[in-house]
Amino acid sequence: MENIQVNIAEIKEEINQICQSYGRNAEDITLIAVTKTVDTDKINYAVGCGIANLGENKVQEIMDKYDAVDRNVKWHLIGHLQTNKVKYIIDKVELIHSVDSIKLAEEINKRAEKNNLIKDVLVQINVAEEDTKFGIDLEQAVDFVKSISEFENIRVKGLMTIAPYDLDPEGVRPVFRQLKKKFDELAQMNLPNTDLKHLSMGMSNDYKVAIEEGSNMIRIGTAIFGKRNYNK
Ligand SMILES: *Cc1c(COP(=O)(O)O)cnc(C)c1O
Repeated sequence: MENIQVNIAEIKEEINQICQSYGRNAEDITLIAVTKTVDTDKINYAVGCGIANLGENKVQEIMDKYDAVDRNVKWHLIGHLQTNKVKYIIDKVELIHSVDSIKLAEEINKRAEKNNLIKDVLVQINVAEEDTKFGIDLEQAVDFVKSISEFENIRVKGLMTIAPYDLDPEGVRPVFRQLKKKFDELAQMNLPNTDLKHLSMGMSNDYKVAIEEGSNMIRIGTAIFGKRNYNK
C-alpha cells in the first residue's frame, strides 16, 4: 500500500515540474486514478492519499464499488458506454469521457432529463483512427459536437482521446497536439450547451508528453496501483 502513496507523490511532483517549465498552474490539472481491477481497500487508501477523482472503464465496476468507496470522490466513466447501461450510472458519475455516437448522446440526454440533471460529457476522439478503438474521427469532431450540442440536458465539457500505445511516448506527441488544436477550435465556436474546459489525454506511459501538449485531465492506473491483475 505504501507504494501507492509514493507513486501518487511522484506523479504530482512530475506534474508540478512540467507545469513550472511550461508556465502553467499545476492545480488546473486533474489527476484521475484509474481503478479498474483495483479493490476498494486500495482505492480508499489512495483517496486517503489525496486522490479525489476515480476512473473506471466498466459500468459494472462502478456499481460494485460505489457504496464501499468514500462518498466525496468523483467518479469518471472513461470506457466505452453501451446505451442500455446509461441508466445505471447517470446519477453516479461526474463526467462521461466516452461519448462516441449520437445514439449514446441521445440516451444520456433522455436519462439526464428524467433525473432532472444536466450531464457533463466529453467526446471521445480516435485521433489515430485505430480500428481497435472507439471514438469519432478528428475531421468529424466539429460536426459531431454541433449535432449533440442540441441536447439540452447534456453539457459538452471537452474532448478525450486514448493515444496508441508507443514504447516511446514521443511517438504520440502529434496525436496530443492535433487534439489540442481541435479543442481550441471548438472552444472558439461558442456552441450552445458546450463549455470546453477539459482535455482528457495522457495515461501512465504518456501523461508527461500529454501535459506538455496541453492536457488538463490525466487518467493514471498502472503508475499508481501497479500492473493490473485481470484474473482475480
Ligand atoms: C486503463 C485506462 C487508463 C489507464 O491506463 P494506465 O496505462 O494503467 O495508466 C486510462 N484511460 C482509459 C480509457 C483506460 O481504459
